[in-house]
Amino acid sequence: MKIDILTIFPDFFRGPLDYGIVRRARESGLATIEVHDLRTFAHDRHRTVDDRPFGGGEGMVLKPEPIFECIEGLNIQGRAERLAPGAKQSVVLLSAQGRPFDQSVAEELAALERIVLICGRYEGVDERVGQHLADRELSIGDYVLSGGELGAAVILDTVTRLIPGALGNEASARQESFSAGTAVQPGGADSTCASGGLLDYPHYTRPADFRGMQVPEVLVSGNHEEIRRWRRRTALEKTWRNRPDLLDGAALGDEDRELLARITGKEN
Ligand code: SAM
Repeated sequence: MKIDILTIFPDFFRGPLDYGIVRRARESGLATIEVHDLRTFAHDRHRTVDDRPFGGGEGMVLKPEPIFECIEGLNIQGRAERLAPGAKQSVVLLSAQGRPFDQSVAEELAALERIVLICGRYEGVDERVGQHLADRELSIGDYVLSGGELGAAVILDTVTRLIPGALGNEASARQESFSAGTAVQPGGADSTCASGGLLDYPHYTRPADFRGMQVPEVLVSGNHEEIRRWRRRTALEKTWRNRPDLLDGAALGDEDRELLARITGKEN
């Protein structure tokens, strides 16, 4: 996958690109990530990328020219092609007014061959970028950031770990919070617990006794069926407690519904 990032602060990405899974994906060639400095595409002496808003009002707005010029130099498909069914490229504008970015959007993006992320700044980006250049606007949450760089880093990280081969253990992406998957039924081949749209179950590691805080006994029992059941129950409990909205869309089996009835009965 190729990912291009357009920003006026290219150095911002030194951290996000140089650690962990993103770094490994770059080094192994699974992801090619390029950061483009928008100031390079400003042609005046001061490399100006912003201007005052038409109609008056507070702050400055990122000008359209550097963004259009940069993208035109990237050999990206036209907007109409990118909006057509089966398109393999996307130009994303980071925006607080965008569609919410979540795991299903991340999965959609991870299936593409190329993504361009445009980071806004100031009061935002000239609207023509969203209307005529980008094919989608994404928001990483209902709050206002100073710039799109943090949002781009979030998307970059989330999408990269979904590229097949980016995680050492393929199963871990399927089991994580929010991943669709299907619930593993009792006696299923998999001894672990697929998320099925629930939050992840709790994880523990050595030491089994840390300052008197014990690891749940079932996890050291060696009984795989009991462990699977415990993980499913605790995932359901966590989801019920922290994100009950997810339960409606979760893939729940008979065993889950039984466990959930017990959990909700207990907590009501
Ligand atoms: N005036 C805009 C508004 O009220 O929606 C906020 C502009 S914000 C200060 C500057 C830039 O940060 C935006 O152009 C966008 O690229 C980025 N940004 C801010 N909040 C964001 C969010 N929740 N998700 C994604 N990008 C965001």
